[in-house]
Amino acid sequence: MVVSAFFLTLDLRTLFRLMFLADLVVCLLLLGYREESGKRAIRHFVLARLMHGLACLLISFRGETPLWLSPYLSNTILFFGLALEVSIVSRLKSQARSFLWVPFLIAIAGAVVFVGFTRTAPAFVGVASATIGALFAFGSFALMTTAGSSRVRWTVAAIYCALTTTSLLRAYAGFFAASSVDDRTLAQMSSLIAMYLYCVGGGVGFLLMVKEDADAQLRIDAVTDSLTGLLNHRAFFDVARARIEERYRPAQPLSLLFIDVDHFKSVNDTFGHPAGDEALRSIVRSLRVVLGPRALMGRVGGEEFAALLEMDQEQVVAVAEQLRRAVMEATVEATPGLTLTVSIGGAHAQAGAPPPARESLQSVVRRCDRALYAAKNNGRNCTVFA
Ligand code: GH3
Ligand code: MG
Ligand code: MG
Repeated sequence: MVVSAFFLTLDLRTLFRLMFLADLVVCLLLLGYREESGKRAIRHFVLARLMHGLACLLISFRGETPLWLSPYLSNTILFFGLALEVSIVSRLKSQARSFLWVPFLIAIAGAVVFVGFTRTAPAFVGVASATIGALFAFGSFALMTTAGSSRVRWTVAAIYCALTTTSLLRAYAGFFAASSVDDRTLAQMSSLIAMYLYCVGGGVGFLLMVKEDADAQLRIDAVTDSLTGLLNHRAFFDVARARIEERYRPAQPLSLLFIDVDHFKSVNDTFGHPAGDEALRSIVRSLRVVLGPRALMGRVGGEEFAALLEMDQEQVVAVAEQLRRAVMEATVEATPGLTLTVSIGGAHAQAGAPPPARESLQSVVRRCDRALYAAKNNGRNCTVFA
């Protein structure tokens, strides 16, 4: 009772004008966001919100403007603004990019029916609300299927769901209860309140989604070597330290390998730096073929790689030999005539022992380094274990 009294006394035109103001504030905030990531999506979102704001402003003057301006043009702008927004939000993380024309198709269908065939006030409400409901049904479906563990995405999806449900109720009221745009019915008011929540919450939510994606990318960049896609030096040794020093499972042996490209300086000198870069990528591909996509590997120096393998001494000796051969036998497609070899130093980690008997990462690395040094001194293109 209190709730309905609270909502039903709100003035509709005021609500539309508040939405216009909320859109302007959201646009100002978004235009102030200076980060590079998501810039294109933000620009399009601002355009969508300016369209929504303009539509709300025009709708708030309905009756005082010519009919072509409001409701016809205002609702057409509204449909396309919402379609643009729903499509942008769905695109942020969507795999199903091929369906992104759907919102625009809904907007076109809505506009054709609204402008071409809708002549009475309840029908205006019915067609406009059904179109809005369909647009947000698509948006909430797209968001829910890509939300993952993001609470922000789930919250925006919930707002979209509320807007879908209330819009469809309002459409029903328009078609079957002859509810007009100025009626303060529960269906009408709840859908406009949901629209207001979307106005504010959807804007903040969008900005947070962009920020979430940018942060996730930064986290990936911080641990990744951009040339090869392997873990970088710090990230590899952070994980290796955790696995070697914190493991209590003697049943799971661990071995560390250092893989250094032989005479790589002369590869650069002979074929050029870009060819050298491609050669490094090609070596990583060869290593991956042997170790598989899930093996823990890092680029720990310019032309030096490391792998931490869950293998005992016997297994890892055989695998190291396979790695050496794989690199030697591979051809670098981009540079015919270039053959590469690697020297490999390995050490089996005494993992699993309780402290203080447990070996530190530093100690394993020292042994591995010595082994690599010995492999280089043995004439290169060979594997040595310490
Ligand atoms: P060794 O067999 O003793 O390992 O000889 P090396 O020439 O491979 O070793 P050295 O340490 O003398 O030289 C390493 C070379 O690797 C020098 C450097 O220019 C090259 N290098 C390091 N990082 C990159 C890179 O990202 N791209 C390219 N193209 N070359 C790199
Ligand atoms: Mg080298
Ligand atoms: Mg080196």
